[in-house]
Amino acid sequence: MSKSALLPTYARSELVFERGQGAYLFTASGERYLDFASGVAVTALGHAHPHLVKALNEQSEKLWHVSNLHRIPGQERLAARLCQETFADYVFFANSGAEAVEGAMKVARRYHFKQGEPERYRFVTFEGAFHGRTLATIAAGGQPKHLEGFGPPVEGFDHVAAGDIGAVDAVIGEETAGVMIEPIMGEGGMREVSWPFLRDLRALCDETGVLLLLDEVQSGMGRTGRLFAHEWAGITPDVMATAKGLGGGFPAGACLATEKVGAAMTPGSHGSTFGGNPLAMAVGNAVLDVVLAPGFLDHVAAMGLRLKQRLAGLKDEHDGVIEEVRGQGLMLGLKCKVPNQALLQSLAAQRLLTVQAGDNVVRLLPPLIVSETEIDEACAKIDAACVALETGAAATA
Ligand code: PLP
Repeated sequence: MSKSALLPTYARSELVFERGQGAYLFTASGERYLDFASGVAVTALGHAHPHLVKALNEQSEKLWHVSNLHRIPGQERLAARLCQETFADYVFFANSGAEAVEGAMKVARRYHFKQGEPERYRFVTFEGAFHGRTLATIAAGGQPKHLEGFGPPVEGFDHVAAGDIGAVDAVIGEETAGVMIEPIMGEGGMREVSWPFLRDLRALCDETGVLLLLDEVQSGMGRTGRLFAHEWAGITPDVMATAKGLGGGFPAGACLATEKVGAAMTPGSHGSTFGGNPLAMAVGNAVLDVVLAPGFLDHVAAMGLRLKQRLAGLKDEHDGVIEEVRGQGLMLGLKCKVPNQALLQSLAAQRLLTVQAGDNVVRLLPPLIVSETEIDEACAKIDAACVALETGAAATA
């Protein structure tokens, strides 16, 4: 391939896809891949979902963009629907996950400022977390590989081990604004934060007057079998960021907040040129139509269970390749005994697309519309990919 003019920030595969349909992607020469990556948990309803295509086409013929200087009915409708379904009373729309997380941190700081405690600006975050690639979100994640070469990290983050409530308690001080966590650490290796730990965090935040911020950029919008993963723990946050599945492939993010916290924002205190534009909102509302339809989340939970059970069987059969199966719903990970890249390549050779994660994990993020047959097909491919690795016959895609 000739030299690319793209900034070399990705180690891309050579695959070029021309179109997608449901859980499948097709190359120009017609090769068919089963897509268990979903563009890193984004195409939640698969490719070219008719309801989303219709919504985008109809909106594209009416109005693309007006800016947030005017009322946008699709935005008001999507915000009201998200509030109806969650703990939140307010929503701010952004274009990406990192932007939604930044919004969440700004709202939290602003809340304390309005409470007369402007010194509360610090956040407790967790080792192995991932919150995005802006300067503040790489500091929040605290991973050396993301911080290297980008100057002094943005100040104000205290990193502790996930699961250690004593460590969180010890680090919360008079300058703490909030505790921020992903209910399931996606990039960090599909590591589940235990639900009792989330409940302990909620209680500790209530006790100390700091806010609980959840990053549901990856785990939200039905991915775990509930609209948001924290529902499994039976708690609610004060502020939450979500994105990825929200736009089903159209860039969209959102920061949700309670009445108490969100009321701290005033006109001019935050903004975005593109956030919540009519195209994104038309698709976001269409995604929600499908995800909230009766039985849809039950389907996600059932497919998640089926896949996890099948993966557990594959782990037993291939215990030299797979060490552990992790995750919830359709947000699953295979911790590998071989390098995760080797398994990922072997899966790609079987025409199954997956995503790598930290802690030597391969992520399986099928579209939420995935069928039993597609799960069975994926498992046959995983079996074949493991055999190829075991027999030294693994080829690369
Ligand atoms: N937070 C979490 C939990 C994520 O998984 C991601 C992306 O993978 C982000 C934030 C950043 O989202 P984006 O890449 O849309 O900025």
